[in-house]
Amino acid sequence: MSDNKRKANEITTDIPEAKRVKTEENEHDFAPRRKPVKGVKTLAVLSIKWADQKRYASSGACRNMANQVRKFYLKNSRGMLQFKIVKTAVVRVPYKSARKNINKAEVYCRRRVKADIYCIINNGVRGYSNAGGNTAHLRGALARTGNHEVGHLLGLGHSGRYYRVKNKWKFENYGDRQSVMGKYASSLLTAPQYYHQGWLF
Ligand SMILES: [Zn+2]
Repeated sequence: MSDNKRKANEITTDIPEAKRVKTEENEHDFAPRRKPVKGVKTLAVLSIKWADQKRYASSGACRNMANQVRKFYLKNSRGMLQFKIVKTAVVRVPYKSARKNINKAEVYCRRRVKADIYCIINNGVRGYSNAGGNTAHLRGALARTGNHEVGHLLGLGHSGRYYRVKNKWKFENYGDRQSVMGKYASSLLTAPQYYHQGWLF
């Protein structure tokens, strides 16, 4: 290696490598853009009719939710994600309404029809809705709850909000009003969520 070359190397290696120190403030900065969530996914919306229950979301309510979810994601993905509705129905299950029977009842429902994503309404047997695997576990037939829980199944987290109280920043987990992933009604997502889903272009 010539002196000149060595000198050039030294110069370049002398430049300290930019290091990003992970702190509480910036740990969310680099959520990577994912491969776009796109294509056709099949969707089934089912309402559990418990053996001992009189009131339940009708098949019309299931159909409405399925249409709303389909429209919401078609619009928000700018046509990249299309839900194909394969079934909307009330399913009579041979179990009594109890939290411990929700899982069994959902398995029973999923056997009726094959779908990529299920919204299963348990009609108030659990006091809250959540989502996991390929299923949104819904307490009722409110369409925006369907949109929110299906959002989790597609990889979205909650839309929070920072706010200031007496010179201190506080964080409200569901506080962002701009996104259906907050706790308020919204027909949209936020820009970072569009980016994360690969729907920003
Ligand atoms: Zn949620």
